[in-house]
Formats: sequence, C-alpha cells, structure tokens
Amino acid sequence: MPIRVLAPDLAAKIAAGEVVERPASVVKELVENSIDAGASHITVEIKAGGVEQIKVIDDGHGIPPQEVAIAFQRHATSKIASQEQLDAIATMGFRGEALPSIAAVSRTAITTRQPLEPGGFRLELLWGEPQSSGAHGCPPGTAVEVLDLFGNLPARRKFLRSSSAETSRIQELVSRYALAFPAVRFQLIVDGKTSFTSPGNGVPREALLAVYGPQAATGMLEVHGEDPDSGYQVDGFAGAPSLTRANRSYMTFFVNRRWVQSRMLSYAVEEAYMGLLQVKRYPLSALNISMPYEEVDVNAHPSKKEVRFREENRVFSTVQRAVRAVLVADSPVPFLASPNSEIEYASAIPSSFFPRSAFGGTRNSGGAPGPASPEYPGGAPPDAAATQRSAPPLKVVGQLKLTYIVAESPEGMFLVDQHAAHERVLFDRISQKMSEQAAQSQPLLAPVPVELSPAQGETLRSNRESLESYGFQLEPFGDGSYLLRAVPAIFGEGDPAKALLDVLDMTAFEGLVRQKEDVTAASIACHGAIRAGKSLTEQEMTALLEQLEATPNPHTCPHGRPTMVHFSSLHMEREFGRR
Ligand code: ADP
Ligand code: MG
Repeated sequence: MPIRVLAPDLAAKIAAGEVVERPASVVKELVENSIDAGASHITVEIKAGGVEQIKVIDDGHGIPPQEVAIAFQRHATSKIASQEQLDAIATMGFRGEALPSIAAVSRTAITTRQPLEPGGFRLELLWGEPQSSGAHGCPPGTAVEVLDLFGNLPARRKFLRSSSAETSRIQELVSRYALAFPAVRFQLIVDGKTSFTSPGNGVPREALLAVYGPQAATGMLEVHGEDPDSGYQVDGFAGAPSLTRANRSYMTFFVNRRWVQSRMLSYAVEEAYMGLLQVKRYPLSALNISMPYEEVDVNAHPSKKEVRFREENRVFSTVQRAVRAVLVADSPVPFLASPNSEIEYASAIPSSFFPRSAFGGTRNSGGAPGPASPEYPGGAPPDAAATQRSAPPLKVVGQLKLTYIVAESPEGMFLVDQHAAHERVLFDRISQKMSEQAAQSQPLLAPVPVELSPAQGETLRSNRESLESYGFQLEPFGDGSYLLRAVPAIFGEGDPAKALLDVLDMTAFEGLVRQKEDVTAASIACHGAIRAGKSLTEQEMTALLEQLEATPNPHTCPHGRPTMVHFSSLHMEREFGRR
C-alpha cells in the first residue's frame, strides 16, 4: 500500500484508543473536566458497567454555546495557549483530546449552561459527527452523556471485562477523586442506585471515612510534612502500622491533586514503615504531594496516569520523612528500641511461655520484622516446662492507654494488645464450636430491620451460608433490606444491626486475602472482642492472658497482626547501659 495520510475519522478512532481504553477512562476524563470547571458537586451515573451509559453532571462554569462544537475538535482546549503554560500545568486537562476521543467511539450528548446565562445549549454527536444542536433549558453547569461506548468498535468491546468488573474500576476511580477533592461532593449512581457519596464539606478525614469506611479511617494518622528547601509539601493520611493490607493497592497518591501511579512513591511510603510491618503486608495511605507545577511533567502518558519529577530523590525523601515522622510520633512501642536494634515481637517468644503452642507447628515465625531474639538463636529452645502447665507465666503489671496490658515475666516485659488478644480467644472459640457443629445463635426478641448498602448486600449474598452457620439469621425484606432474627451468641448484649453491618464490612475488607470460612469467624471475633479504650480490672486482664495462653496460636490475632510485643530483659539492660 502506498503511504497515505489517514482519513480524519480513522485517525480519530486510533487516537481515541490511547485516551479511552475502557469505561473508567471516560469517567476519569469527564470528572477531570468537571473539576477544571470549578464544580462543587459532581454526579456520575453509569449503566451496565458504563458501556450502556455514562453520564457526568457538574455545576461548574459551563461552556459558551459558540464554543461547544469546538470543544469536540481534536487539540481544542481552553486550558493552555503557550509553551510556557505547558511547562507549568495547573489544570487536570490540557491535551484537548478527551471530548473528541470519547465522541469518536460513542453516541455523545453535551448539555451546558453558564451560570449567568438565562438558558443552555445542547449538542448531540454520533461516532464523532455532530448531529443536532441548539438552545436547551438546563441548570447551570455541564452534563455529558456517553451512550453505547465502543458501539462502532466491536473488537474493543470484546476486550472489556464483565460489567461488574468495569463498575468496580469506576467506583475505585470516583472514590480516589473524592479523597483528593474533599471540597467536592461526589455522587456515584450505578444502575439506578446510589453506590457512593462523599460529603464534599472540605474536611479530608470525612472524605476518608466515606471512602475507606469507619474501621480503616479511624486507624489512619494525619500526615503533614514539608521539605524546607524545595517547599514540596506532603499532606494526607497514612495507616497506623497495625492497619495493613495484603497488597499495594491501598496506597493512593496525588501530585498536585492529580491521581498518579508511581512505584517510586509506593517505595517511599514502604520505606517509612520499615521495621514496623510484617512481611508481605502493606500500609494504607492517601497522600497528596504539592510542588511547583514546573517541577513535574504531567505530559508523560496519554491518559496522564504517570508523571515525571524533576527531582525524584527529593520527592522520595520528602514523602518518606513526612510519613515516618507521623509513625514515630504515634506508634511508641516499636520505637522504644534504637533504630537498628531488634524488637522482639511475640514471634520470638520462646514457646515455653505458651505450653500448648509447643505442639503441632504453630505460626511461630509469624512473619514479624526484625531478627530473632539474640537470647534464643534459631527460635524457641526446647523446654521441659512446655509440657507441664503451671501458673500463668505472665504477670499483669497494669493497663496502658486503656489499650495494652503491660505484663512481665522473668524474660522481660510484654505489651499485649487487649483487642487483638481477645479477638484471638474468640476466634478460637468460634472456630471450635463450628467444628463441633455447635455454633450458637441468639434469637432476638423482635426481628430488627437492617438496611444494607449495595456493597454490603453483595457481601451478604456471597457469604450468607457462612454467616448463617455462625449464628446470624436473616430474611430478605424488600429493596436492600433484611430482617435480622438472630445473631451469634458470642455478641451478648450489643446492637445487633451494627454487629451485622460491622461483620459485613470487615468480611468485605478481609475477604480479598483470606479463606471464606475464616473471614466470617475473624469478622465476628473482631466485632465481639473488647475494644481499645475499655478499662479492664486486674482480674479481667489476668483472665484474658490465661485464655490467650490456652489458644494454639497466641502470638497473632486472626488477621495476622501480633497480639503482643516483647521487650527482653537483655534488651532493657542494654538500653539502660547495664550491660
Ligand atoms: P482538555 O480538558 O484537555 O482541555 P477536553 O477535550 O477534555 O480537553 O475538553 C475540551 C474543552 O472543553 C476544555 O478545555 C474546556 O474548555 C471545555 N470543557 C469540557 N468539559 C467541560 C465541563 N464539564 N465544564 C466546562 N467546560 C468543559
Ligand atoms: Mg479534559
């Protein structure tokens, strides 16, 4: 074939491929346009994973009628006009490619009105070609509707995943923008039902609560750091070291509030947690790095997901230091040790402390960081005492911050996390009852109606059998609601509806990394366990330690976190210069 310049519609389809990879990319571009338009309320509506319909409605500054058609031409943008501006981009968009690319592969309609104008304007396009346009009544702002995505590119449609997979990408995307822009109220409607809303009140922690849920949000620490030389600033949240996940996808980064993917930034955060996390566990974070626009090249990728930094090392160390500083201030326990000395996590405790754990290969190594205790090279020494159960080896000294039990033994000091310890005890009790087919259910005096979010409903449907086998009794009760008739006996008095919601949320979180049966038991144990913040009597503490000691895996809670930290006598003597 001779060399020819491609016909414009073909060129447009090819270009569209770079920008519009899947429904979530359309949502991303449209949401970014709404943010650039100064919107304070952005609604995203999708149907069938976005293939059937994507609609993004904002209350931003709108587009003048005479410019609407131009916005759909390639490389048409109101955001930059010169090379200097390209070097310091302050808006989300700047390439002028999104609208034409989206329009080239869908049936698109845009309705827009500038706030001070009496009326609006509407333009409809089919596979990129303008069809009809004219005056149109509408509220101030812009609504872009994208129907039948890839209807003219059947091959590309085949590459899409199931509509629920595409939906969850869009849910993830919208929630990340909600984190970056807490002053914008986001609403996501999936197949006619609201699936997510953010408060939009400008309070970052409340946006975090909407996205990560109460359990994770309360365990996240506020980060504010600045590099005095460059003025780079890091703000946001980082999870307490006890709050971890099994993969890196819970680390979110924004650069000048643009959501970016960057291994370098993940490494910087992981570096900050060095020595604080178990192996193969990753922290949660949501951080925005602000820096002068000219120090970051956002034009490194067609969909602007990746960026290049002029001073990568400086970015790395600013992030690492800001996060580390918060962890040091908020997590006193591991930092009792000097930076490179060993912290003896419970995994290094000789098994003789817990006689039964000496049997049958328990998780002694637990994956805790740091080398094994020097006093017990190679792990636990063989111990004759292991077979004779005597008085509890741990003596309660007191309670710390209403959260930890301080205990001592000849081997030194132990800090026991009261919630994690009780969780372990309950988990074992539940699992044992289960294996004896005797899970106890506690009927409620009157059935309690419980309303579930779509996500909770989904978790319930896929775990119903397991939940019922542990003592929940449920009956569908119309749209998204259930009647709760019984709860696991282990819950005692508490609010039964809250118990169910808690267990569902925890199951959804843990479900990704654990086996099904365990998830339910762990979630029930977690809900039933005493919380941090509860004052315990000495008797209660002694009883808890005794019960913990009797479990086969006393060293970790069912989520794999340590139940206790050990400070050896040797270590203390060294710290105080006695050796
Ligand atoms: P870019 O965002 O890179 O400028 P787009 O193709 O996404 O390119 O949009 C083209 C232009 O249309 C924008 O520069 C902007 O002026 C206008 N525009 C698009 N969406 C909106 C919106 N939601 N509100 C106001 N103006 C918009
Ligand atoms: Mg844009």
